Amino acid sequence: MIDLRSDTVTRPSAAMRRAMAEAPVGDDVFGDDPTVNRLQEKVAELLGKEAAIYVPSGSMGNQTSIRAQTQPGDEIIAHADSHIYHYEAGAPGAISGCSLRLLPGEGGLFDAAAVRAAVRPSDSHYPRSALVVVENTHNRGGGTCWSIDEIAAIHGVAEEFGLKMHLDGARLMNACVAKNHKPTEYAKYFDTVSICFSKGLGAPVGSAVASTKDTIRRVHRFRKMFGGGMRQAGIIAAAALYALENNVARLAEDHANANRLATGIANIPKLSVNVASVETNIVYFDVDPSYDPAKTLCDAAKEEGVWILSTGPQRIRAVTHLDVSTKDMDQAIATLDRIIRKR
Ligand SMILES: *Cc1c(COP(=O)(O)O)cnc(C)c1O
Repeated sequence: MIDLRSDTVTRPSAAMRRAMAEAPVGDDVFGDDPTVNRLQEKVAELLGKEAAIYVPSGSMGNQTSIRAQTQPGDEIIAHADSHIYHYEAGAPGAISGCSLRLLPGEGGLFDAAAVRAAVRPSDSHYPRSALVVVENTHNRGGGTCWSIDEIAAIHGVAEEFGLKMHLDGARLMNACVAKNHKPTEYAKYFDTVSICFSKGLGAPVGSAVASTKDTIRRVHRFRKMFGGGMRQAGIIAAAALYALENNVARLAEDHANANRLATGIANIPKLSVNVASVETNIVYFDVDPSYDPAKTLCDAAKEEGVWILSTGPQRIRAVTHLDVSTKDMDQAIATLDRIIRKR
């Protein structure tokens, strides 16, 4: 099965499993796990922050960051397609009592002028604008990368109005590899940064948040409150360390594979894709309504060993990762082409 549903489907390699098996561990709720501590130091250094904390999921990384930097009644400025809005079960409202001010924009991006226009005047009628969330790469936007200049401009507006900035960097390393930026070049504009090890980096579990020591102390408290304190977590933190040490530069292969897949799909009748918009490892493409709904194509492809997801009536998502090869891309293209031409 060529599984292109998500980059979360990767399985730990033999070498990663060995690193996990051999990891020294302790009770991380007591702060005693040497492997977790080593990972947290490495992430802090990678992102140029004072401290970092290991958390069970990207959602927990985002939501502890939101909770640590807002009060109930506050408003968060984010893109209308953002993960925190669509895919975290309504957590900003449920857990932090915050409303969301959603901005439009192609590819999950918005600009500083839109943030400025969205900031609430300080008047007791309005919620208090508290936090701007940027997602990089942008998941629903199609794996798009932010420009550092735009982030810097948004940071300028945030500073002017006293807003905090959170980076949902579940796939930050994809953006860094695609744009040839150091993680710190992006991270320096944000108060908190979350990254995921369980996406393209190939670890089985885990994310991290980096920030100042003070903010990480608050995040730590909320991690415990939300049930995210873990004991001998070095077993899984070792996989994250392995991923950071071995699986970052190779993300370029995933990007090349995504581009190859998109280019192939562009040549299949009834399918359309904007190849130029594929900057990293996520490919969104559309099925012409004269063919069946996207779901029918996905079901037929799965029968023939290619697993892709319909994300709308005529929309399909395919994501490349370290468990699929260039040959798999060619096979996926041939399979889709065969299915479409059969009728
Ligand atoms: C996957 C993802 C997350 C975190 O998801 P979890 O399933 O909670 O680990 C957060 N933000 C983005 C943009 C993601 O793609």
